[in-house]
Amino acid sequence: MGKLEGTVAVITGAGRGIGRAIAEELSAGGASVVVNYSNSKGPAEEVVSSLSKNGSENAIAIQADVSDAEQAARLIEETVERFGRIDVLVNNAGITIDKTMKKLTTDEWDKVVQVDLNSCYYTVKAALPHFIEQESGTVVNMSSFVGEAGNFGQTNYAAAKAGLIGFTKAAAKELARYKVTVNAICPGFIETDMFAFVPEEVREKIKKSIPLGRIGEPHEIARTVRFLVVDGDYITGQTISVNGGVYM
Ligand code: NAD
Repeated sequence: MGKLEGTVAVITGAGRGIGRAIAEELSAGGASVVVNYSNSKGPAEEVVSSLSKNGSENAIAIQADVSDAEQAARLIEETVERFGRIDVLVNNAGITIDKTMKKLTTDEWDKVVQVDLNSCYYTVKAALPHFIEQESGTVVNMSSFVGEAGNFGQTNYAAAKAGLIGFTKAAAKELARYKVTVNAICPGFIETDMFAFVPEEVREKIKKSIPLGRIGEPHEIARTVRFLVVDGDYITGQTISVNGGVYM
C-alpha cells in the first residue's frame, strides 16, 4: 500500500455510507483525504475526527454541493490549495428519487441526473488541469448495477448511472495520454442509508435474488477503490461490478 502514502484523495459525499468507507480505507493506507459533504456538516466532521483518532494527520472536510458546477470546481481548488495536488477523485455522491415514470416529475428526473451524472463532469473538468500538469490521476465513478440492468421505478437513476459508464469510457480514452485512469464501479445492494428504508420482507426477497445470498458492505466497495488506486495502473475505461452476482 506504499502508493497511498502522500496521495491526495477527494471523495464526494463522504459523510456516511460507501463514501465514508472509502475515506476510511484510503486514509488507513496513508492517503490525505478530503471528506466532501453537501448539507450534513456534523457527520462529515465526525468522519474527519474519527480518521484523526486512527492516526490520520491529513483529513479535512470541505462543503460543496457537487451538482453545482461552481461549487464542484471550488471543492477541487480548495483541495489543491490545502494539499498542493489532487491524485484521486472518487465521484461517490448520489441520490435516488424512486417513482414510476407515470408519477415522476421533470424536476425529479433533473435532480437525480444533476447529482448522479452531471456532478462527475463538473469535478473531473475542474481536476483536469491538475491531472494534466501532474501527468497522473485516478478517477473512480460510483455507478450501480441498476445502470447496467435497469430497475422498476428508477428510470432517472438508471439513466444517470448508465450515463456514468459512458462518461467513464469516453473520459478514459481522452485522458489516457496524460496517464490518468478513469473507471466505474457498479455496486449491487449495499448496506447503507440509501438501502435502509427497504422493508424486511423486500430485503429477504432481494437476498434471495443475490447468488452470494447477502447484502454487500460499504467496505467491500472501498477495498475495490483502494485496489484501483494502488494496483490499477493498467486498468482504465472499465466497469467493475461488486454485486454478489446479482447482475452478471
Ligand atoms: P448514501 O445516501 O448513504 O450516501 C450518499 C452521500 O452523498 C450522502 O452523504 C449525501 O449527503 C451525499 N450527497 C448527495 N448529494 C450530494 C451533493 N449534491 N453534493 C455532495 N454530496 C452529496 O448512499 P450510499 O449507499 O453510500 O451511496 C454512495 C454511492 O453509491 C451513490 O452514488 C449510490 O448511487 C451508489 N450506489 C449505492 C448502492 C447501495 O445499495 N447503497 C448501490 C449501488 C450504487
